[in-house]
Amino acid sequence: MNCSVCGNEVGEQSVATQVFRRHGVIVTVTGIPTVAVCPFCGNAVLDWEVAQQIEDLVQPLFHWSETHTLPKPVITVTFPEAQLLTV
Ligand SMILES: [Zn+2]
Repeated sequence: MNCSVCGNEVGEQSVATQVFRRHGVIVTVTGIPTVAVCPFCGNAVLDWEVAQQIEDLVQPLFHWSETHTLPKPVITVTFPEAQLLTV
């Protein structure tokens, strides 16, 4: 498989960190299980279902910021890496 960003061959199954910014809220998700990570540019290849689950996870956080008046939070979500390879 080749990286969709830089075209080099991607590496092994690994974990990635993605940062989501919406409505002034910043959500950093670490430990996302990936199909592969490009060793050249760091682009992570995610399984569609995994990407969808991450989206379902962060979406309510962005929705919260739209409906509440507290300052926009900076949120970090961490998946425990030890359990990842069985995903
Ligand atoms: Zn790449």
